[in-house]
Amino acid sequence: MPGTFTCHHCGMIFPCNPRIKRQKYCSAVFCQNARHNITTKKKLLRSSESRMLHGARNKRWRDKHPTHTYQNQYRKSHPEYVLSNREQQKMRNNKRQKRAPSMIVKTYAYKAVSQQQQGVAIDIVSHTQKRRC
Ligand SMILES: [Zn+2]
Repeated sequence: MPGTFTCHHCGMIFPCNPRIKRQKYCSAVFCQNARHNITTKKKLLRSSESRMLHGARNKRWRDKHPTHTYQNQYRKSHPEYVLSNREQQKMRNNKRQKRAPSMIVKTYAYKAVSQQQQGVAIDIVSHTQKRRC
């Protein structure tokens, strides 16, 4: 008996495929990718062996495809990206240099302020003592 189901990813209603029991996801690529990712995460959480295999597989792939070579290729093939990134980095550096002095605590400035406050306090004390006398 064909019914309908609501896709867990996109939320749309679809007719059930009679060949799939307890269908939760539609056949759209992004919904199938979401289903695959969720299943993989559950599998990784369930067993330490699959986590180990997953890590080993990732390491093998990363050894064959080092990150820095990909970045170098990308920068060579996208000179406009290099220019815009360079400008953005200059702006970030300038922003950081402007913020840096406020993070430094000037101890001599604090002492000067505290001495002034003490002087005011001494003046107030001496002024009140003069009134009493
Ligand atoms: Zn869907």
